[in-house]
Amino acid sequence: MSYFDDVEGPVGVGIPTTRLIGPVLEARLRTKQRPNLTANKLIASDAYKCARAIGLRVLGYPRDVSYTDEDRAAFGAGDFVDTTAKEVFAQQRNAAIDVPFDWGDANLPIGGKADSVYKTTVVGPDREDDTTARVVAEVKSTSPGGYRYQTGGYSAPAHPKVEWVLQAGLAACSPTFDADYIHIVLVDRENLVSAEWLIGVDDPQVWADWDPDEQWTVRQLVESELGRQTDVLMQCDHGTLPAREVPGFGLVLIPPGRDEPKGKPWNCVYCPWQPTCAVLAPEAVPVNDLPVRI
Ligand code: SF4
Repeated sequence: MSYFDDVEGPVGVGIPTTRLIGPVLEARLRTKQRPNLTANKLIASDAYKCARAIGLRVLGYPRDVSYTDEDRAAFGAGDFVDTTAKEVFAQQRNAAIDVPFDWGDANLPIGGKADSVYKTTVVGPDREDDTTARVVAEVKSTSPGGYRYQTGGYSAPAHPKVEWVLQAGLAACSPTFDADYIHIVLVDRENLVSAEWLIGVDDPQVWADWDPDEQWTVRQLVESELGRQTDVLMQCDHGTLPAREVPGFGLVLIPPGRDEPKGKPWNCVYCPWQPTCAVLAPEAVPVNDLPVRI
């Protein structure tokens, strides 16, 4: 018995009814680029993360700590911003959203998904003609305090975090996109205000939290990060768990716990492998030293 006027056949289990979305879904699945994320042992969202934490993820070592309700609430708020921003990118910039990418190279098994990818016309005094540029956009949300810091509200000048730049850059500079610009959108997830940065991947800039004395292009930052992540992978492949090396911080002698909200580096405070990490030496250790987990 059906109560839907466009459904033929019984509603319930046992016998399939009229296909409501099946034909369109199947056609889309067949024509869309299929993500091949499992082939990529390295992921762009690990950009600028602790070498040991990347190693533990690559090795598939179980997490010690599951997410708290507070973490989940923050993720939920972030997802809301993320989804809404993608809708706006699709409508306002005719962007493709959640586009898979990889480096297409067995020696660089890294990939991920770009939030939004679009084309735009660039005009300006340094351009001979109007040119079409490819842009990869990355959306980030943060607390009001974090937003204020990144937009120049405290003593530091306004700047996007280098990990956001790397994450967008790993997508933009990949052969999948070979893009000209990254577009970072930062949203204060409580006050719902936003700031944006459009950065040419070959334009040298000073990145204060990377190297305050030298100018680096996004592409150069990406090359450095690719080298770091492939080194982590190589260590894991040779039976070594990398040292507790957090970019921008260095070797972590004692990881601060979750009960130390101002602990440094902050990465450890939220690290799901902290209890395991803390019982091992700070330096690289054999993978066999990891406690056996069932
Ligand atoms: S606790 Fe800190 S040092 Fe240890 S794996 Fe996690 S982020 Fe790295």
